[in-house]
Formats: sequence, structure tokens, C-alpha cells
Amino acid sequence: MSGYHHLKGWNEECGVFAAVGVPQAAAITALGLHALQHRGQEATGVVACDNGRFHVVKGIGLVSDVYRDADLEHVPGTLAIGHNRYSTAGGLTLENTQPLRVVYRGGSLALAHNGNLTNAREVRSGLEESGSIFQTTLDTEVFLHLMALSGTDVVEDALVEAARQVQGAYSIVVLTEHSVIALRDPHGFRPLCIGRLGDGYVVASETCALDLVGAELLREVEPGEMVTIDPQGLRSRRAIAAAEPAQHCIFEHIYFSRPDSVVFGDTVDRVRRRIGRRLAEEHPAEADVVIAVPDSSNSIALGYAEASGVPFELGLIRNHYVGRTFIQPSQAGRDFGVRVKFNPVREVLEGKRVVVVDDSIVRGTTSRKLVRLLRRAGAREVHFRVGSPPVTHPCFYGIDTPSRRELIGALKTIEEIREFLGVESLGYVSIDGLLAAEREPKRFCRACFTGNYPVAIDPAASKLGIEQQTRGGVGAR
Ligand code: SF4
Repeated sequence: MSGYHHLKGWNEECGVFAAVGVPQAAAITALGLHALQHRGQEATGVVACDNGRFHVVKGIGLVSDVYRDADLEHVPGTLAIGHNRYSTAGGLTLENTQPLRVVYRGGSLALAHNGNLTNAREVRSGLEESGSIFQTTLDTEVFLHLMALSGTDVVEDALVEAARQVQGAYSIVVLTEHSVIALRDPHGFRPLCIGRLGDGYVVASETCALDLVGAELLREVEPGEMVTIDPQGLRSRRAIAAAEPAQHCIFEHIYFSRPDSVVFGDTVDRVRRRIGRRLAEEHPAEADVVIAVPDSSNSIALGYAEASGVPFELGLIRNHYVGRTFIQPSQAGRDFGVRVKFNPVREVLEGKRVVVVDDSIVRGTTSRKLVRLLRRAGAREVHFRVGSPPVTHPCFYGIDTPSRRELIGALKTIEEIREFLGVESLGYVSIDGLLAAEREPKRFCRACFTGNYPVAIDPAASKLGIEQQTRGGVGAR
């Protein structure tokens, strides 16, 4: 899923996982993180607790590489949390790799966060002015300092106090010496679910991680809810009043989550098929074949094919084993980055009128290369269809998008984008069409299409300005 979107300008956010009352909790957590690899490929960490002793394994790289020699099966303890992340301008360092572990009022604590705090810069400078020393460039660390400054020894109370001072998106798991605490921001931007595994529990960003470890989905952590899980069982507490309506990230359904996950109460594949059907109704094409930009657009393309009656074919084959960096031989020629990721199937494309379905267009430069690839493989006509409306605004709630001045949807009209891509026709699903694919359309954030941000963003962030040249945001992920 990732490489293409990195080329294109989307960066994944993060994935969190926790296991409680589960034998070999560290190994189970690593397995859960493996299923969440698509949410962040650059660094990963597991912290396990055994009788009050914390074991930390962290590394830069993929889950399979980092934990290969870590011998996690032999790390003792029935409590663990873990995290996958991608790097940002904040820097890909081990210090910035989560979970963050601290000594808190004499005991140990570890915390892993998926999301982005919109007032982190402000809170952090306030804390620094009053003497706090930060170890990382992550906004996540703000939580730990706010907890340390709270007047209570009870970790849950300190966490609630911290949560009341921050704004933005957070799905968090905290490891204490006796429990795991899961907390979700009042808007519910990012997913977080709880599963039952034997006599214990697991918590994960997506249900695909529950499936892999053999856990059964119990429910989601509700927006604003804090759940403590320890040997006594599971206790829920309302940390913050839930926002009404919720603001689930609609891009989790369009692209970020895996199609086999149940996210925000709906199977992702089903939502994407509905988007594809709607796209076909809104933007039909006289065509011979429908192809997807694999893998994230497969379900949308299938929906398009179902509704249009145009057959779905595998017109692009994705190479799954491409790392983020590769050596480009000098004679490899232009569009190498896209070619290394996708190979067009000439038999499917030659002489055909092709509908190519993608989930989104961010900068547009990679989509243009993809179109050239299809033409070189013999496509007679290319009709580009997009499963989201034009992305015109950056995200401040946990997805690292380029600034407005790089978003083609903010800079050009649809006709200009069509020309830029070099396609016969271009159609984006409408906002109403996209929302019609959701069961509860009111409960979704769609600020990247509208600029109507449901939670105030950092006024110092520069990503909004079309003219500005610098990137902003503290530790955005
Ligand atoms: S701005 Fe867009 S990407 Fe960000 S949370 Fe809202 S819907 Fe998701």
C-alpha cells in the first residue's frame, strides 16, 4: 500500500497494539504490529512488562526486520504495547521511536500514540518555559510531561488531566506495571478497537491485527472513552465528553485502513465498493476495461466495475517488495520510481479504452507517470477515476500531507488536472457521493476536501498557505 502513496504524497500515520493478560505478550504484540505494517513502515517498538520490569525492543525498519533477531518469544510478561510509525521532518531516530518509556513517580510507564495534537507546539513551549526538558521531537511526549505535572499518583487520573489540556487526534495505549490503558480523543479521528484473546485482551488500531493474533472483536474504544485493562478485567470511564457528531477520518475508509478491517463500525472493503459504485454512476465512461491502482484502490475499482458493467482486469501488477529507498541505475530512464512499483500488463491494456481507478490524487505527479506507463503499454484511451473528491487542504489530525501549495486539487481546476495527467477524461467522486457510501455520514471529518477543520489547527502551521515555502507542525505523524 505504502510505496506508491509515498511517491504520491500521502504518508501513513501510525499503528498501535497492546496485549493484556496474554502469555508471550511481547511476541503477540509484534504479530499485531505486523498486521498494522501498512500504517507505518519506518520504525517500530514493543515495550513489555514482567513483574514491574520493562523490556524495550525498538528499531528503525519493518516489523519483520526489527523483531527478527529479538527473540520476543522469550521476553517474559503478559503485558505489552507496541507502535509502528513513519518518519517526518521531525527525524527518524531511535529516540523518536515509540512507545515512549519514562519513569513516572517511581514507577515505569510507556505510551504509544496514533494521531496528531493540534496544540502541541503551544503546550510544549509553555512546558519548556516552566522547565520541562523534552527528549524527543514528538508531540506525544507532551502527554508524558502533562501527566508528570498533574497533582495525582493515579495514572488514569493523570492521563485524563493531560487529555483535557491537549487538542487534536489521539488513539493511545499506555502500559503501566499492572495494566494497559487505552484512550481515544473525543472526536474519534483515528480508530481503536478491543478484542478478546483467551483469558486476556488486545487493543489495536484495526481489526486486521485482531484477526492475525486470533482475537475476537469486542468493540471499539468510544470517542472520549478511557478503558483500563488489568487482571481484574476491563473498566471503562468517560475521560472527556464525546464530541457530537464524531469526526472519524474518512480517509481511513478511502485508503488508510486495510480493506479486511472493520473500522468505525463498517467493513472497509464494503465502504470502498459503495464509493466505487457511486463513482461509476457519477462518472461513467465508454470503456473496455476497469483497472485499479493496486492494492488500496482494488475495492473501489471493483465497485466501479460492478456498477458500470465494464469488466475488471488486473492491468497493473504491484511489486510488494520495494523498500523506501532503492538504487536507480542511470540508464533506467524516467518514471523509474513508478515502474519499480508497478508493471503494466500489456495483454490487458493494448488497444483498449481503460478506466483506471485510484483512491486519491495528492500532488498529481505520480498519477501522471502512471498514465504514461499505461499509454506505453498500449492503452488507447485512459479515463482516470478517483474515489475521493479533490484534496484541497492538508490534514492536521495525524496524516502527513503536503502543504496546500503542493496539492494539485488546491492549485488547478479539474480540467487543468485532466490536461496535466494527459487523460481523455477525469472524474472525482463528489463529496455527497462519498458521504452516501457511509452509514452515518455526519460522523466523518472531511476537512481535506473542504478546509472546514472540526478542531482548531495550530495557527503557526504553514501547511495552509499556498505561497509559503516551509513545512510546519510539531512532530506531525
Ligand atoms: S483532514 Fe482528511 S485526512 Fe485528516 S482526519 Fe480529516 S478526513 Fe482524515
